[in-house]
Amino acid sequence: MKNLKYFFFASLLVLNIACSSDDDNSTTSIPGNNLSLGKSAHDLLANDIFTEMEIEIVYPEGFAPEANSLIQLKTFLELHTYKTNITFIERQIATPSGAPYTIDEIRTIEADNRTSFNTENTISVFIFFANGDREGMEEGKITLGTAYQNTSMVIFEKTIQNNTQGFGAPDKSSIEITTLTHEFGHLFGLVDIGSEMQNNHLDPDSGGHCNVEGCLMRAQVEFSSGITGMLGNGIPDLGPECIADLQANGGR
Ligand SMILES: [Zn+2]
Ligand SMILES: [Zn+2]
Repeated sequence: MKNLKYFFFASLLVLNIACSSDDDNSTTSIPGNNLSLGKSAHDLLANDIFTEMEIEIVYPEGFAPEANSLIQLKTFLELHTYKTNITFIERQIATPSGAPYTIDEIRTIEADNRTSFNTENTISVFIFFANGDREGMEEGKITLGTAYQNTSMVIFEKTIQNNTQGFGAPDKSSIEITTLTHEFGHLFGLVDIGSEMQNNHLDPDSGGHCNVEGCLMRAQVEFSSGITGMLGNGIPDLGPECIADLQANGGR
């Protein structure tokens, strides 16, 4: 009788374990695309959960990024992540209305147009090249891009176009590359928004930005006046402190 009781108890245990491992295999174990900024930093950098990255790029007619900008972006991603395969899906969408845009309006445009989401081996990133400026811009502080969610960013392509016209204006592709890689830096958790700082290099006046001279993650890179000043030395790259943070969180 005692043995029978033990057998019954043991079978219940087995049943329980079987049930919970079933749960672990369901889709709920794949991290989602609707988390706050920096939450997917490790998953974007390392290859322990996702080995591949798919980047969905949407733009209204006349606002596509230059091909060279995407080639340079891919080089940057291959340099700092361990992803074995990085692919782009580019698609023209119907021109949205409502510019200048608030980030809430950008979120709605993403909800209406995003078709790529994380799957078993692939982490997905969404980029909207906007046909308008960001709402509420201050004089001299013209925002070129914003990373607003763990795998989402907007590039204000119309703003970039307006600031790269005429004699002596900066090169459009250089501004696109700098803005794209800067916003990816935020998705990678820089500075101190998902990738822990190895040494203190946080700009005390601007959350999420770096205080190292010439670094891609300087706050001024997000604004047209600041970016133009930095491009004199070529397209800025990540400084040593930002690279150390990425390496500590699974990147390189
Ligand atoms: Zn920034
Ligand atoms: Zn830095």
